[in-house]
Amino acid sequence: MPQFETSLQLVNTETRKKEEVRPLDGKVVRLYTCGPTVYDFAHIGNFRTFIFEDLLRRTIRFFGMKVIQVMNLTDIDDKTIRGALKNNLSLNEFTSQYKKAFFEDLKTLNIEPADHYPEATQYIPDMIEMIETLMKKGIAYTGADGSIYYAISKFPCYGKLSHLKLENLQAGASDRVAVDEYTKDHIADFVLWKAYERERDGKIFWESPFGKGRPGWHIECSVMAQKILGDEIDIHAGGVDLIFPHHENEIAQTEACTGKHFARLWVHAEHLLVDHKKMSKSAGNFYTLRDLLKIGFTGRAIRFLLLQTHYRVQMNFTMQALEGAKHSLQRIDDFIARLESYKPTKTGLTGSLKEYLDIALHSFTQALGDDLNTSEALAALFEMIRHVNSLHDREELTKDDVSEVLQLLARFDSILGLMNFEKEEVPAEVQALADLRKQARLEKNWKRSDELRAEIALKGYSVEDLPDGVRLKKI
Ligand code: AMP
Ligand code: ZN
Repeated sequence: MPQFETSLQLVNTETRKKEEVRPLDGKVVRLYTCGPTVYDFAHIGNFRTFIFEDLLRRTIRFFGMKVIQVMNLTDIDDKTIRGALKNNLSLNEFTSQYKKAFFEDLKTLNIEPADHYPEATQYIPDMIEMIETLMKKGIAYTGADGSIYYAISKFPCYGKLSHLKLENLQAGASDRVAVDEYTKDHIADFVLWKAYERERDGKIFWESPFGKGRPGWHIECSVMAQKILGDEIDIHAGGVDLIFPHHENEIAQTEACTGKHFARLWVHAEHLLVDHKKMSKSAGNFYTLRDLLKIGFTGRAIRFLLLQTHYRVQMNFTMQALEGAKHSLQRIDDFIARLESYKPTKTGLTGSLKEYLDIALHSFTQALGDDLNTSEALAALFEMIRHVNSLHDREELTKDDVSEVLQLLARFDSILGLMNFEKEEVPAEVQALADLRKQARLEKNWKRSDELRAEIALKGYSVEDLPDGVRLKKI
């Protein structure tokens, strides 16, 4: 736990102000994060948002609070149904391959698992119940097409999250939309239950008191959040494209049912762009995680890249930026490897270093507490690396200092999830060649030393001569 008094503040999309995170019940922060639509592999734009949510979860814990996180899997929407029918599969057969891939990708990116991953298909009776409540309250009505709609004019606060102007609202209020996704240009009554259409839905439908059909996308999240976390939650998160209509509609549904304040804090991650346009499946300008692994990048490098930019700032993806992230990561790896292969030249503690490390931790903590400012937190890390390296170069580092630095790195990594603390296991034959090379160098036999370096390289290792010995590294 940080020793300094720093609170965790986040910019609330609804109030547009920085607000402190404190659990409503005094015990545990209840966090709802909208998950993937499982109709395809997620792209790294999606993962920018999921990594931001992972950062949020880890930071809440870093600040000494408990957190319970729900991430839903959207397995019923226009896209999953279209995909299942097109591939002649059941909805479950079609979506389960992408659910599996999603969990594999989370592991590759070292995203901590949420506590619950509810799937829309498991909550249909609860969705029907919420729609019935809205009908009883006179807020939902049956449209001419047999679908059930939400009358936004009956919910006076409609638009409070996305800061919609009420005049626009009145103009569109008599209109209706039956699609799951639409934009602010089309403010309208939205669908809660879509009546079955043979051509569009094939064999995919559920029975309900309103007839055959399936739930709209927005009601799914309202229900899963309420069922697992209760009527009022602490934080609701997602990407900025979810502010309208998805989150606005969630508020309208849940608050009209409960009369309570659904989510105290709304936080949204900005988009990942390609050529300055939103990365998206529909635009075709996307990379999946797997695309980037195939060309040799690691999950760690991608995670690092996506963490570098503050979550409320748009980020343009380029291969050069990813290369840059790979190199910065290498600096961290080299630093750790150097500390781990440290041979003591001094004992005791360098008093001033301890003080320095406390300040570094304070800067890191303060940056995170200030609306998750990862760029500043990383600056504190790299400044610390530079400082400790220069002490190391001057042989002013003691064994105890090294262990203090490693402990601090582990603290940082509880947030970053990037570091590699395991010592590399060097094969015995490579170590033997390195020992021969050391002997050759003692004998000033540079030719032999170079030959041995080449032999070591053939076995897949590079040799680096350090003031306190050599380091063998996998190429
Ligand atoms: P979806 O699978 O489309 O439901 O999206 C899953 C999450 O990814 C949502 O929170 C979206 O807001 C987010 N998202 C989609 N595209 C991007 C993008 N280009 N950059 C950042 N987040 C995105
Ligand atoms: Zn949602």
